[in-house]
Amino acid sequence: MTHEEMIDKARGILRELRGRIDDEDFKENLAATEIVVNPRRRTTLGWAQRLPGFTDRADDAPWFRIELNPVIAQSDVLFLDVVLHEAAHVAIEVRGGHGGVWRHVARQFGAVPERYNSMPCEGVVFRQERRHPVRCLRCGREWTITTRAARRISTFPDLWTHKRCGGHLHIKTKEEIVKSPAVAS
Ligand SMILES: [Zn+2]
Ligand SMILES: [Zn+2]
Repeated sequence: MTHEEMIDKARGILRELRGRIDDEDFKENLAATEIVVNPRRRTTLGWAQRLPGFTDRADDAPWFRIELNPVIAQSDVLFLDVVLHEAAHVAIEVRGGHGGVWRHVARQFGAVPERYNSMPCEGVVFRQERRHPVRCLRCGREWTITTRAARRISTFPDLWTHKRCGGHLHIKTKEEIVKSPAVAS
């Protein structure tokens, strides 16, 4: 399924949902929701947010955005559940997390709130991305980066440098990680 097809499918679900609910505010919020497919949202299957335009209530600008992880295209059931899950967030203007109001609305929409209610964050935790410790060879600063970023740095060491100081980056080896103390944040 292409991203455009996913967006069409999600829009269709929202349209169908608007047709079978009575609450005018919910309908209005769902009508003012844009759908985006975001492959970079690695840790969630779906994500709902209130856009800055919400406060102005401009007619042509979307008030909310639902971002979908492309992996949900693998299953119709999952796709529907994630869209309804996020639609419930949007209906109540992305307030109150996964609390009682959201659970009530999610159930009303046909999502299964129990399926994800033990998850700690907005959306659904899909998988924890591995992080790699990195050190700037000029200023000595240390932080962690994604696997994709680590691969980029090893392939183009002159291109991907420390933004602040321009120093080259060193990705720590397993041996170095074992020697260094655990980092708390
Ligand atoms: Zn959620
Ligand atoms: Zn640096």
